[in-house]
Amino acid sequence: MLDGRVSNPEDPFAFLPVEKRYFPSVPLESMPLWQSARLTDKTGFTHLYLKDDTRQLTGSLKDRASLMVAAFARREGIREITVASTGNAGSSMAGIGAAAGLQITLFLPKSAPKAKMIQALQYGARVIPVDGNYDRAFDLSLTYSQKGKTLSRNTAYNPLTIEGKKTVSLEIFRQLKDIPDMIFVPVGDGVILSGVYKGFRDLKHQGLTNRIPHVVAVQAEGSDAIAQALKKGSFTPITASTLADSISVDIPRNGYYALKQLKENDGSCVTVTDKEILQAQKELASTSGLFAEPAAAASYAGFLKIKQSIPKDKKVVLLITGNGLKDTGSAQKGILFPNQAISSLEALDHD
Ligand SMILES: *Cc1c(COP(=O)(O)O)cnc(C)c1O
Repeated sequence: MLDGRVSNPEDPFAFLPVEKRYFPSVPLESMPLWQSARLTDKTGFTHLYLKDDTRQLTGSLKDRASLMVAAFARREGIREITVASTGNAGSSMAGIGAAAGLQITLFLPKSAPKAKMIQALQYGARVIPVDGNYDRAFDLSLTYSQKGKTLSRNTAYNPLTIEGKKTVSLEIFRQLKDIPDMIFVPVGDGVILSGVYKGFRDLKHQGLTNRIPHVVAVQAEGSDAIAQALKKGSFTPITASTLADSISVDIPRNGYYALKQLKENDGSCVTVTDKEILQAQKELASTSGLFAEPAAAASYAGFLKIKQSIPKDKKVVLLITGNGLKDTGSAQKGILFPNQAISSLEALDHD
């Protein structure tokens, strides 16, 4: 696809396999890359950036992949898309699909956060709750899409998801006018990770840089298949358990590819506990004003865990992949909820 020179390296769409005119009519601008003065003060890192994908149309980075798949479907005259999801890929495909006028069928574990399911239903998708985990939903949706001849958006199964997600790196490069030194990426299936690498590889291929940043894959301690595999050299089965639902997977569907890229590019892994994730979520929100869902706050948790080993002048990007309002149930575990309602201000004197 990118054998030749892209026409305009400033335009992320120039790097994509489907022309911009097939994308649905939603805002296609870059997501903000911003610095929080208070976060800089707190951490001492003068070049710490938040890549803020909480502001995507449906509230997560998954929109990058959904847009790519929707554009492809429109170009090919495909009417229906099927997807299995822990929540965000589904609500994203539902929203982007609505904008594109496509029919979306969604297989969602019944334990998925309510807000994500509600989002998908509001967007008008057909939602099929699955009595089982994400891996079960994944398998059922694949069989369904093969039988019904619909296009599957399943992450790692449809390579367009990586092509879509790579735009995050193209944007960072354009916004920073440089390649960052480090980038923290929350990892479940490893597709965002692969998209991040693909974007920087494309830039290198185009002669726009000769560097690939150091990528730190952040996993939840209870869902650390890729981190384990990087350490041991091979995958061993796990049963995932973490409140960060978006990165909770037994079998990383893009595991081998993600592992290969981490090895080839000197990437590393760090694991964080649910407690560390909740603390990081709270600290990020109360310091910067950015409310991230647990999987997205894992980027910050991973950064906090290893920041002692990073020189403070390094350019560090945290990928903030999803909005905190998507899973208030988990967020509630990291705060003290005021139980008493008052009817007069005198009641406050006893605080
Ligand atoms: C999907 C998702 C991830 C993880 O992406 P993978 O490609 O599965 O590794 C991280 N954060 C959020 C908010 C997500 O929705």
